[in-house]
Amino acid sequence: MEDKKIKCIDCNKDFKFLAGEQEFFKEKGYSEPIRCKDCRSKRKDKRTSGFR
Ligand SMILES: [Zn+2]
Repeated sequence: MEDKKIKCIDCNKDFKFLAGEQEFFKEKGYSEPIRCKDCRSKRKDKRTSGFR
């Protein structure tokens, strides 16, 4: 398996979807990520900070 380049839908930057991650996602039955790690963690922060 090779690393994949995916364009983040939030910041439009290309990010790497590593071969190891692809295997992990496949194993779990997840679909491919559409956001880079930065945007994913940002969204998480927003969600948790707005909570409570
Ligand atoms: Zn992004």
